[in-house]
Amino acid sequence: MTYILHRNSHILPRLAVKGDGPYVIDAGGDRFLDASGGAAVSCLGHSHPDIIQAIKDQIDAIAYTHTSFFTNQAAEDLAQHLIERAPGDLSKVYFVSGGSEAVEAALKMARQYFVEIGQPERRRVVARWQSYHGNTLGALSAGGNKGRREMFGPILSDFASHIEPCYEYRHRRDDESAEDYGRRVADELDKEIKRLGPETVMAFIAEPVVGATAGVVPAVRGYFKRIREICDSHGILLILDEVMCGMGRTGTLYACEQDGVAPDLLTCAKGLGAGYQPIGAVLLDAKIDAAFRDGSGFFHHGHTYMCHPTASAAALAVQRVIERDDLLANVRNQGDALNDALMERLGNHHHVGDIRGRGLFRGIELVGDRATKAAFDPARKVHVRVKQEAMKRGLMCYPAGGTVDGKSGDHILLAPPFIIDKSHVAEIVEKLGDAIDAAVQE
Ligand code: PLP
Repeated sequence: MTYILHRNSHILPRLAVKGDGPYVIDAGGDRFLDASGGAAVSCLGHSHPDIIQAIKDQIDAIAYTHTSFFTNQAAEDLAQHLIERAPGDLSKVYFVSGGSEAVEAALKMARQYFVEIGQPERRRVVARWQSYHGNTLGALSAGGNKGRREMFGPILSDFASHIEPCYEYRHRRDDESAEDYGRRVADELDKEIKRLGPETVMAFIAEPVVGATAGVVPAVRGYFKRIREICDSHGILLILDEVMCGMGRTGTLYACEQDGVAPDLLTCAKGLGAGYQPIGAVLLDAKIDAAFRDGSGFFHHGHTYMCHPTASAAALAVQRVIERDDLLANVRNQGDALNDALMERLGNHHHVGDIRGRGLFRGIELVGDRATKAAFDPARKVHVRVKQEAMKRGLMCYPAGGTVDGKSGDHILLAPPFIIDKSHVAEIVEKLGDAIDAAVQE
C-alpha cells in the first residue's frame, strides 16, 4: 500500500534504507552498485561523511532563510567557488532547487536581458531535437524529445524551434569527416536563425553532452566553436545546459571546457549537490548582470528556496571534496578504464551499435542489427528489460528508449560516482554485460 503517486502506477519501487559508498541497500538487505548515480546525480556515492557533517553543521546554525531578507555564507562561498573556476566571463550565480528551475531561469534571463538592452522583439529560442532540458513547461517546450513532449504538446509554448542534434553515430555521412559533419550540422543553426528572422531570436540552448534522451552524445570537435561563432554573428545568447553533463561528470568541472567554448548562460544541478540536497544554478555572463543592474535593477523572477542555506552547504562541501581529493583525475582515469572494459566486453556485441562518452559519463546504444544500425522494435521495450535484468544482478544503470528519434532506439546511460575504483568498473561491466545478454534474448 502506498499513498505516493509513483512513476509507474503499477510498480511499487523497492524501499531504499541505507547508502554505503557507491552502493544503495534496500530493506531486504540487497545491495545495488549505483552505476548511474540515480540519474547522474550521486557523484560522491551515498554516505560521504564530509557532506553529512556539513549538512548537520549548517542545520545547527540555521537551516533556511528567505532571499528577500538575507543572504547566507554557504551560498556566497559556493557562488565564489563556481565563478572562480568558470569559463569565459561568467560572473554571477543564481541558485535554485534543480535542473528544470535552472533552465526556466536561464530562459527568462535571456528574455529580460534583451528587454533591458532595448531589443524586446527577441523572444525565440532555437534548441535541438533529442535534447532534454527539464519537465516544467518552459523547459519542456525547449526540449526536443518527442516522446516526452507528446502528452503536453497542446500546452507547450511556441517560443522554441528545433534543429538536428550533433549525433555522429547516426547522422555523419560516410563521405564526410567528423569535422565536416560538425560544420554542416552547426550551420543548421545559422539557417534556422535566418528563417526565423535574426532580430527575433534571443538564444540557442544545447547540452554539451546530450544525456538522458540521446544516451551520452558528445558533439564532434569544432561543432560548438562554430555554434559560438554563429550566435555571436547574430548577437544571440548561447545557453549551455550542463545539468547532467556538468560539475565534473565528463572529467572537467564544466563540460564545455572540453569543447573550447564559454556560454553566456550555463545551467547546472544534479552533481552540484550530489543528491545530498536538491540544488541547481544558473551562471550568467557579466554583460547580463550589467544589463540587469543598469536596467530595471532586478531579475523579474524568484522561488521560495533560492540560495537554500542547507542545500548550499551540502553543495559547497561536495565541490570542496571533489577538489581536495582530486576526484576529477579519478573521473578521467576510471572513465578511460570503464570505456576500455566496455569495449572489451561489448565492442563486438551483435546488439551494441555504439559505445561513447567522456569521463564517467558513458552511453551504450543498443541496436537490433549492428550492420544496418536498425533499432529494436520499440514494442519489445529492450531498455526496460535491461533495467530489470541489471537490478536482478544488483546493478543500477539508466536505460531509456527513443534514442534515435524520440520513439525508437534504446540506450543505457552510465554515470557512476567519482569515487569508484577498478573493482567497481569490473563489477559494472560484468553485470551490465550479463543484463544486456539476458535482455536482448527473444
Ligand atoms: N537539463 C538536463 C540536461 C537534464 O538532464 C535534466 C534532467 O535530467 C534537466 C535539465 C532537468 O533537471 P531536473 O530533473 O532536476 O528538473
